[in-house]
Amino acid sequence: MMLKSDPALTYSRSRRLVALLTAFMKQRKMGLNDLIQRFATSSSYGCKHPEVQSILNLSPPQEAELMNTNPSPPPSPSQQINLGPSSNPSAKPSDFHFLKVIGKGSFGKVLLARHRTDDQFYAVKVLQKKAILKKKEEKHIMSERNVLLKNVKHPFLVGLHYSFQTADKLYFVLDYINGGELFYHLQRERCFLEPRARFYAAEIASALGYLHSLNIVYRDLKPENILLDSQGHIILTDFGLCKENIEPNGTTSTFCGTPEYLAPEVLHKQPYDRTVDWWCLGAVLYEMLYGLPPFYSRNTAEMYDNILNKPLQLKPNISNAARHLLEGLLQKDRTKRLGCSEDFVEIKNHIFFSPINWDDLNAKKITPPFNPNVNISSSASIKEAAEAFVGFSYAPSMDSYL
Ligand code: ADP
Ligand code: MG
Repeated sequence: MMLKSDPALTYSRSRRLVALLTAFMKQRKMGLNDLIQRFATSSSYGCKHPEVQSILNLSPPQEAELMNTNPSPPPSPSQQINLGPSSNPSAKPSDFHFLKVIGKGSFGKVLLARHRTDDQFYAVKVLQKKAILKKKEEKHIMSERNVLLKNVKHPFLVGLHYSFQTADKLYFVLDYINGGELFYHLQRERCFLEPRARFYAAEIASALGYLHSLNIVYRDLKPENILLDSQGHIILTDFGLCKENIEPNGTTSTFCGTPEYLAPEVLHKQPYDRTVDWWCLGAVLYEMLYGLPPFYSRNTAEMYDNILNKPLQLKPNISNAARHLLEGLLQKDRTKRLGCSEDFVEIKNHIFFSPINWDDLNAKKITPPFNPNVNISSSASIKEAAEAFVGFSYAPSMDSYL
């Protein structure tokens, strides 16, 4: 028998392995933090010696406290960025008790925080101004074309409560979404049955259709931006900034996090339009049904070549409706792609979605096919809040933040 490594298997295995390792490390780290906390509070030795104290003080909750005791000053008029109607000029970092880092993206970090007065949990996205204000004209990133200036509100888009700024940072106060990344659940189960994939694809499509109706192209649909709420509904994060105007510093974004679902026109650096989102929807649906992204190869150059040139080949174990939809969405020529003329209406009316009642879907009246079994009430303890996230998402330490 030949021992040949199957790249497909390697890919899904390695993704699953990363998820499991991250969960394991988080659990270990939290256990250690607990131990350190207990040591700090109970051990007379630990409390008497400043050196030991300084080491003990490195545990994340105390690091987080630093953010509140050393906040950067409010912005001077020249440092001010227009945050649109979401702006809450009276808000400040010290309004929050920052608990832990729950996500790291290309532009900043997302922290779990509890508001000191309303006692609610929020996800606070913190961006360094200097990372996004590379050029002078980009000072306008938060203006005209900016999503923040539009009142974006949809059941499957993360809710933005308000935003504020200090001299060097922007803060976006978001709903805390605690059901985990969709792809964390996919990695555990390898692939989803069609009804479950249909439900998620429909909720994603509905959110994309809504953004398009506001003339917003999401463009950035990728596994790590698709979360589940506590009931199991889809929540897309990360639509708040106009991506074409803000490129992350350097080239770090190319390997940080999960690769995007790159449409041929994006790879070609051609102008793109809203049809790019329908390609990405096809890619998500494909991965949910087959457990791998379309055109996947371990070799990135080969994968790009596949996306551009290889005809879509669909294995037979999916329904004809799913096959037809994937062929329509993963059409390389965007002028022939499903959605190119009537946008969301074409997707909505596709036979694959015929079991979906779209009004019920948008009213969240369809019971999600899977319950993430996490529920954090505002009165839940910090520990519970932190534990609910164990294994659900990428959570690096706060070290590099401060
Ligand atoms: P970036 O623009 O830097 O990619 P994102 O908004 O995608 O930042 O956030 C990075 C990660 O943080 C996400 O992939 C997700 O795991 C986590 N995250 C973002 N927003 C929330 C939220 N509202 N609730 C819980 N986790 C979140
Ligand atoms: Mg992101």
